[in-house]
Amino acid sequence: MKKKQNPETICVQGGWQPKKGEPRVLPIYQSTTFKYETSEQMAKLFDLEESGYFYTRLQNPTNDAVAAKIAALEGGVGAMLTSSGQAATFYAIFNIAGAGDHIVSASAIYGGTFNLFAVTMKKLGIEFTFINQDASEEEIRKAFRPNTKALFAESISNPALNVLDIEKFARIAHSEGVPLIVDNTFPTPINCHPFEWGADIIIHSTTKYMDGHAVSLGGAIVDGGKFDWDAHADKFPGLTQPDDSYHGLTYTKAFGQSAFLTKAVVQLMRDLGSAQSPQNAFLLNIGLETLHLRMPRHCENAQKVAEYLQSRPEIAWVNYPGLKGNKYYDLAQKYMPHGTCGVMTFGLKGGRNQSVKFMDSLDFISIVTHVADARTCVLHPASHTHRQLSDEQLIAAGVAPDLIRLSVGIENAGDIIADIEQALAKMK
Ligand SMILES: *Cc1c(COP(=O)(O)O)cnc(C)c1O
Repeated sequence: MKKKQNPETICVQGGWQPKKGEPRVLPIYQSTTFKYETSEQMAKLFDLEESGYFYTRLQNPTNDAVAAKIAALEGGVGAMLTSSGQAATFYAIFNIAGAGDHIVSASAIYGGTFNLFAVTMKKLGIEFTFINQDASEEEIRKAFRPNTKALFAESISNPALNVLDIEKFARIAHSEGVPLIVDNTFPTPINCHPFEWGADIIIHSTTKYMDGHAVSLGGAIVDGGKFDWDAHADKFPGLTQPDDSYHGLTYTKAFGQSAFLTKAVVQLMRDLGSAQSPQNAFLLNIGLETLHLRMPRHCENAQKVAEYLQSRPEIAWVNYPGLKGNKYYDLAQKYMPHGTCGVMTFGLKGGRNQSVKFMDSLDFISIVTHVADARTCVLHPASHTHRQLSDEQLIAAGVAPDLIRLSVGIENAGDIIADIEQALAKMK
């Protein structure tokens, strides 16, 4: 057996493995459709009796190569790309839950995910209970019901920066007979491996560090392949009982370890169609080729900026899990010993208005909705990403009204600090 490759090699070499005479660089298969020689060949694909490409909504070689690289980085049995992180989250839940079902989720999650769960998926008849991820196991288990289908959380929450106790969450999920779904967007597989700590499904907004250059929207779902759906067959009829839309095929029987992923591709992608464009997948792949170089630099710069902010009298508080004394420092050391991410939050003395004024005084650090790319940027969640949330919901999501989210890029750390310093000087 070939030795398992290290992440640095997978980032550069994973996924696309050209054969003799094929392009060295992953090509963009800019084709909606794929040719066959006989009608019979095509029919077998539609019956899932053979695998092969036929329509890009379901699968495309460019997308599959990039998905394979992400699966290898996470240590999963397979992955699929989606058009955005939102689509990945939706598919991961909707693949095993429908009207009348229930999901337990951490409350400190990305604002878009919170809206998806609390508003849109609720309209589909799926109920969510939001829990404090730092509560005891007994407390969290009280949220489970007989119709609960999954436990959901972010490995590092956006923007609260709570670090998840993944082992604790996996224990709770498995004792309740449901999978643990982890959004691993912020640390990326360079810094955190949720599957090694018991997570079952990993999702990503590849829009963030994976792409890393703020050029292409995308998402991914990675299947760890270890959850025993058949052991809880009654809870997961969509995987363990025949699918009429494929002549009575049963996913766990036909696809074993890849049952979850295969169903998400052939059923949800077929019917809902949130496919990533091959062009975006191509750009994502170029981003992935340097992920292992960029993540350590993001963390190194962020550590310096966080320590600088902490030393300044104008700053009321700094939240970065890499700071000693941070509530999540120990969990970060355990689950992400090489670093967390480049994102931090802080507030200025003087509250909300001062925070807004500070942001307006910055030079190259720009105000954008985005986070987690090469360029340093800031955002005020209470006025931007989280403005739909009530004050109570803001606090539950870990977002203080004065909170500034700073996403530290890979420029020179001294230059980033100098920009912050001149903005602070302007506020006197
Ligand atoms: C941005 C983000 C999402 C949503 O991803 P999109 O690609 O913007 O749809 C989901 N989870 C986290 C943690 C995010 O930061």
